[in-house]
Amino acid sequence: DLAVGRSALITARKRKKSAPPLKTPIFETPRGGLTMLTRALEQAIRSMGGTIATDTKVEKVSRRYKAYLIVTDSQTNPEIIADSMIVTSPARASATLLSDLDEQVSTSLATTDHASVVMVTVKTQETEIASFRGLSGYLVAKPDQDRVTAVSFGSNKWAHWQPNDGSMILRVSLGRDGATTHDLIHEWEDERLVTQVIDEVSRHTQTAITADISRVTRWPDAFPQYRPGHLAHIEKIERSLADSSPGVFIAGASMRGIGIPACVAQGENSAKSVAEFLAHLRD
Ligand SMILES: Cc1cc2nc3c(=O)[nH]c(=O)nc-3n(C[C@H](O)[C@H](O)[C@H](O)COP(=O)(O)OP(=O)(O)OC[C@H]3O[C@@H](n4cnc5c(N)ncnc54)[C@H](O)[C@@H]3O)c2cc1C
Repeated sequence: DLAVGRSALITARKRKKSAPPLKTPIFETPRGGLTMLTRALEQAIRSMGGTIATDTKVEKVSRRYKAYLIVTDSQTNPEIIADSMIVTSPARASATLLSDLDEQVSTSLATTDHASVVMVTVKTQETEIASFRGLSGYLVAKPDQDRVTAVSFGSNKWAHWQPNDGSMILRVSLGRDGATTHDLIHEWEDERLVTQVIDEVSRHTQTAITADISRVTRWPDAFPQYRPGHLAHIEKIERSLADSSPGVFIAGASMRGIGIPACVAQGENSAKSVAEFLAHLRD
């Protein structure tokens, strides 16, 4: 019931007022947005003498004596020989490029389900949403869901999303696993998505929202879905790869955690595995 939802929001706001202030923020993000993270990574790699090939697709990986041949679609440098590698592409892409190395791994990765989402970011005037200052957002309960699943009061969460004119930026998610998202991704125009968001958020919050500026981002197949038995499934993939293709490691959102901290941890663990493998090769 949406009226109950609204009263729950207000109760939460009152409760928050009486709660002791938190010492650290609940949500953290780099000032300037997540691009800062990839930019910092790029700088670190280049400063250590590494090279990065952007706009380059890996087509296939195969065995070349004791090393691996990585075939890409690059015009200038299509073939790379590597002693060791970390595969971090989404599961279905990894399935294609690993099919020559390990058919079992390739088949397992190809079965991974993914959910698609659309993110609509709108800038709305402060007066319309002022009563939600201090709250970070809300999830829409499944029985009440139409297309919107979650709303972030972005300006309350992130310093770099606080416009000088006092307006508020909302980031709204549409679509989830188990719901129809094909039309949202492939059929609905941006304008229709924004209208849907405005209608639904106005209904949830019982506040007439208007959007000054909006941005629509479609994320097809962006969220790998961990079904029951996921960890055993992943361990089997890792064991098979260790047997068939020593020195090839696999990491990323399809494997051991979707959130950025989990992906960073997987990157660090895989880098350690590569270092150990290379040290062993040299012995
Ligand atoms: C809309 C959205 C909001 C999110 N919000 C949060 C959040 O608030 N907090 C949080 O912690 N996490 C969040 N996540 C989750 C998190 O961002 C991702 O799970 C994580 O970034 C995935 O990292 P990854 O390196 O595994 O995969 P990706 O970032 O998807 O990288 C995979 C890369 O592989 C490349 N690739 C694919 N095929 C090939 C090929 N054949 N050859 C070469 N390259 C290839 C792709 O181009 C891509 O660059 C969000 C995700 C989405 C979609």
